[in-house]
Amino acid sequence: MKILVVNAGSSSLKYQLIDMETEKVLAKGGCERIGIAGSLLKAKGNGGEKLYNVDMPDHKKAIKLVLDALLDNEIGVIKSMNEIDAVGHRVVASGEYFKKTTLVTPEVLKTLEEKTFELAPLHNPSAATGLRACMEVMPGTPMALVFDTSFHATMPEKAYLYGIDYDDYKNYGIRKYGAHGTSHKFVSLEAAKYLGKKPEKLKIVTCHLGNGSSITAVDGGKCIDTSMGFTPLAGVLMGTRSGDIDASAVEFLARKKGLSHADAVTYLNKKCGVAGISGVSSDFRDLVAGEESGNERCALALDMFAYQVKKYVGAYAAAMGGLDCIVFTAGIGENTPTVREDVCEGLEFLGVEFDAKANNAQNDGSIREISKKRSKVKVLIIPTNEELVIARETAELL
Ligand code: ADP
Repeated sequence: MKILVVNAGSSSLKYQLIDMETEKVLAKGGCERIGIAGSLLKAKGNGGEKLYNVDMPDHKKAIKLVLDALLDNEIGVIKSMNEIDAVGHRVVASGEYFKKTTLVTPEVLKTLEEKTFELAPLHNPSAATGLRACMEVMPGTPMALVFDTSFHATMPEKAYLYGIDYDDYKNYGIRKYGAHGTSHKFVSLEAAKYLGKKPEKLKIVTCHLGNGSSITAVDGGKCIDTSMGFTPLAGVLMGTRSGDIDASAVEFLARKKGLSHADAVTYLNKKCGVAGISGVSSDFRDLVAGEESGNERCALALDMFAYQVKKYVGAYAAAMGGLDCIVFTAGIGENTPTVREDVCEGLEFLGVEFDAKANNAQNDGSIREISKKRSKVKVLIIPTNEELVIARETAELL
């Protein structure tokens, strides 16, 4: 079985074609600048690579080009479009409308478009555009929606509710939904496999640390709590996002700066986080370089980030009544040793014995253990693979 995974943004469309028997990526690539002058498809497959400098006025043209690349004489990996058994679409937000991976029907499409857009106005409309384009170009091929929020659907009410009027939760769906669910699911399962234990027997804190960061408590294979909230603005401070902040401070800030509510939220999403604190960059490579050259605000931003992640590790160990494993993943989690070390520093009381030497070893893209052999709590670096989870879920649904 071959599954095409599609991740559509407003002007981009990334894809992978995965063979489910071997779970190997047969082809992958991405369209950039869709609807903008200079659009481009970079496609890889069959050991080769090709650049398509073709005008892509919309996502329909983009997906047509992707199929051309998949069928190409040189870099192509299939002979006919019919070899694609299904398409799995990444969708950021489901609200309470979808709890799991869902096959697309006219009713499902209607709910996606009419109910969920306001929950993720930057992301869900793009996913729907990508979906519609695929449906037009590949009629008859089953389409599945795979939600970033699904893995968090097992959170109990006490974890996902905010302390607001219960009727407002019921009427408007204001609650915690979480994000990066496919990543948290993937790395927690990989951790269990690596440790040779059943997921049901493990208490794991998964730290997905990238431009957007979230931390999840995975107890017995299920998410019981996560740091992101109603939107991906919540939790720890991130590249440009503030993370949690007192709502009254937002109102105060909006008044001081003469911002509307919407503009204040845009400010919290785009101008804050480690970029705001450091005044230098949202990119952790720049912050580490800044700290090394004596920039105190870069050092402060890194300090705040690690401190906030550490607090979630402690809180979730308490929530689960124990801890067997901490997992680091995503751009920062996989590539920034100093963050991992600072997060784990002082966690000996929980049973973490950190191995600084292993932590500083070269990243070779494999799973790496960065706790000492005798450590009660294992600390692992696990490269995430969200596309594979999307493909697996789509295949299972079929
Ligand atoms: P997202 O997918 O949320 O956009 P990523 O998971 O790609 O983000 O993470 C991006 C972050 O990872 C940046 O802050 C970047 O500095 C950090 N990072 C550190 N080292 C590397 C590296 N070698 N490759 C990619 N990202 C890295």
